Amino acid sequence: MLLTRLKDPTLLRSEAYINGQWHAATRCFEVIDPGTGTAIAQVANLGDAETRLAIDAAEAAFPAWRAQTARTRDTLLRRWYDLIQANKEDLATLITAEGGKTYTESLGEVAYAASFVEWFSEQARRVNGEILPSNTADKRLLITREPVGVCAAITPWNFPAAMITRKVAPALAVGCTVVVKPAEQTPLTALALAVLAARAGMPPGVFNVVTGDADAAPAIGGTLTGDARVRKLSFTGSTQVGRLLMAQSAPSLKRLSLELGGNAPFIVFEDADLDAAVDGAIASKYRNSGQVCVSANRILVQQNVMDAFADKLTAKVQALKVGHGFENNVQIGPLIDASGLAKVQSLVADAVSKGATVLTGGKPDVRGGLYFQPTVIKGVTADMRMKHEEIFGPVAPLFAFSTEAEAIRMANDTEFGLAAYFYTRDAGRIFRVSEALEYGMVGVNTGLMSSEVAPFGGVKQSGYGREGSQHGVDEYLSTKYTCLAI
Ligand code: NAD
Repeated sequence: MLLTRLKDPTLLRSEAYINGQWHAATRCFEVIDPGTGTAIAQVANLGDAETRLAIDAAEAAFPAWRAQTARTRDTLLRRWYDLIQANKEDLATLITAEGGKTYTESLGEVAYAASFVEWFSEQARRVNGEILPSNTADKRLLITREPVGVCAAITPWNFPAAMITRKVAPALAVGCTVVVKPAEQTPLTALALAVLAARAGMPPGVFNVVTGDADAAPAIGGTLTGDARVRKLSFTGSTQVGRLLMAQSAPSLKRLSLELGGNAPFIVFEDADLDAAVDGAIASKYRNSGQVCVSANRILVQQNVMDAFADKLTAKVQALKVGHGFENNVQIGPLIDASGLAKVQSLVADAVSKGATVLTGGKPDVRGGLYFQPTVIKGVTADMRMKHEEIFGPVAPLFAFSTEAEAIRMANDTEFGLAAYFYTRDAGRIFRVSEALEYGMVGVNTGLMSSEVAPFGGVKQSGYGREGSQHGVDEYLSTKYTCLAI
């Protein structure tokens, strides 16, 4: 069924990709279509030994890869970009099939994923150094930037293509080699990206993909973090696993980028354009059925516009169509798995039991399976779990506030600090509030802000490190100072 949907069936692989070879395994795990609950593929279930082989390959490939000119690396990345674009429908098909995202959104993700490859291919040529003015006439002081070495990337299921390219593209661009461990729910997209990288002419060992199921993840992660040859780990996923990987990386003092969970506030002030705020909330909240780290998790609305905002939002949410990602005009696909659905259900039940009111939705969808109705809940308060837990589902909780100071206090009252949004037409407030928000990213009068040219990342328990932009290149470079006496 999945094979027949692909224009190029050779993009569907079940083996891991290590040292330029497809690595079959005696043990496999199932990849499930969350929209139907059926198995769509069997993929190699690997562990410590194969991870070590991948590190060996990346280590062996590193000297020649870093010695390539930036132009050569740029050309190869550009070819990879062209192939991703040329195969965008097939990549989108794989993303929808294994991740549940609507096909339209999957096409959007492929474009977003490709944009990182294109942008970092261009940045490959701009790893410039510096010459510093010396304190003494007989010295020359040089600053050069060098690739950190072998890198590991561990990625989540919610953006199976983009979370890989925004790590792998900058790493390869500056001369690092990479071992990727994709999420167990979405290995097919990662393997298809590897097929295209191989077709682009990426040398063996430069880009490796080690697949494994949930039980294999700790072994693969333990090997990647425990091996001192791996100089850097870039992880996107939950804060809990991020902390564990950080502790495991301590003995080898690995460099780390940690893109972790979020609890984004979305603040609607009384002077906001309410229609624009509703559209922004829909874009931020319901994309990928709410399974996005920068999704609006708490919608804070000034008391005197609460009813008007709630009515407008509810009307639009009621019009959202639930269905399988391959169906036409669908906006809300399934949740990724049973535990994701159970969490959303229990968060809604908790809020209702403590006095919140469901304005629309609130229940699993009539389709059954992993579908949950797009939901708006009013009267949500600080004693409810939704205030501090990531919902990761199509549920918009509305919290009321009365003053700007109260909105800022509520927005910052979380351990997370990834993305925040607010809507206002007051120029002074734009500066006051964006400066007061303890977040890595702030959207003002917009619900969407991610782009390859801008730094993406958080503060507090949302982690550290930045992806995208020149900051995303710096994560893969070490600074070397050379002092020359002449
Ligand atoms: P997760 O932490 O469970 O899994 C992420 C990855 O880590 C997967 O590849 C998984 O197999 C792997 N993993 C799990 N346990 C491991 C272990 N012991 N050792 C090594 N690897 C291990 O997260 P998830 O549920 O897949 O993803 C959702 C989370 O990711 C949410 O919290 C979301 O906010 C976050 N996220 C953050 C960003 C960001 O840029 N900040 C982007 C997307 C998702």
